[in-house]
Amino acid sequence: MRLLTTLNDLRDERAAWQRTGATVGLLPTMGYLHAGHLSHAHAARAENAIAVASIFVNPTQFGPNEDLARYPRDLERDLALLDGAGVDAVFAPTAAAMYPADFNTWVEPSGPLTERLEAAHRPGHFRGVATIVAKLLLLVAPTRAYFGQKDAQQVAVVRRLIADLNLPVELRVGPIIREPDGLAMSSRNVYLHGEARAAATALSHALEAGRAAWESLSAPASAESVREAMRAVVAAEPLAALDYAEVCDPDTCLPLTTAQAPALLAIAARIGPTRLIDNYLLRADGSWEIGHRVNELGQ
Ligand code: AMP
Repeated sequence: MRLLTTLNDLRDERAAWQRTGATVGLLPTMGYLHAGHLSHAHAARAENAIAVASIFVNPTQFGPNEDLARYPRDLERDLALLDGAGVDAVFAPTAAAMYPADFNTWVEPSGPLTERLEAAHRPGHFRGVATIVAKLLLLVAPTRAYFGQKDAQQVAVVRRLIADLNLPVELRVGPIIREPDGLAMSSRNVYLHGEARAAATALSHALEAGRAAWESLSAPASAESVREAMRAVVAAEPLAALDYAEVCDPDTCLPLTTAQAPALLAIAARIGPTRLIDNYLLRADGSWEIGHRVNELGQ
């Protein structure tokens, strides 16, 4: 596995891939990898001649009061995990390489996606995400790019970005990988200990309650009763503070009034200083995408 830390390293390597006409799969990450990230590495490995991971804690997607400085990092461990997953190359640039002092061009998504859910709680977040994703897609020029349903609104933003800028890449979205107790895997889970770790299951429990409420409805019913079922679970957990429990359109993130598929059940809550997100997706065909518990993967 090659470690590429400069833009020139990457350009040379990319030229070699392009000379052979190899298909390339890219999985962008911020590192501190877990089984969720590795599920995308396995997919990229299986579906392309070359599998590339990027590891970059993108400063521009963090707000001023967020956890950029303490975001967990362990490059050596990440490299060993990616090597084990059969990844061919890892692009791990410095912040100065990606954002030189005279950097001044942004990719600014607009519309409801930049006003609701994560966007409302994290001003500027998706400008940072869209900018770094566009830069990575242009630098690596992958055939396919791998993202996680865990960040459902990010998937919607990236889908629009690829369509709106006519980027020649296929978006691949993998399911949420969960801990055995249902907590969605996240690099930020390392912040959770003891009672806080136990309280964090309130998010997946709330989604489960939302799904149960949805399934008990006689159509056409109000989406609000699904939101209420989700909110009630978080309200019963004293260590959890709800940011939102929403039932919305998966592509626009606009709230639904009637409970009709397709729908995204999206939740964000804080456990002390740790902010967590999770979601269930109800596809147009009426099937649920709720992810997989890591102990059920059979890997
Ligand atoms: P991050 O390192 O948190 O920026 O995540 C990198 C990619 O992995 C993003 O596309 C995430 O949506 C995805 N991801 C994060 N957590 C999970 C998870 N639990 N299951 C599947 N994919 C995930």
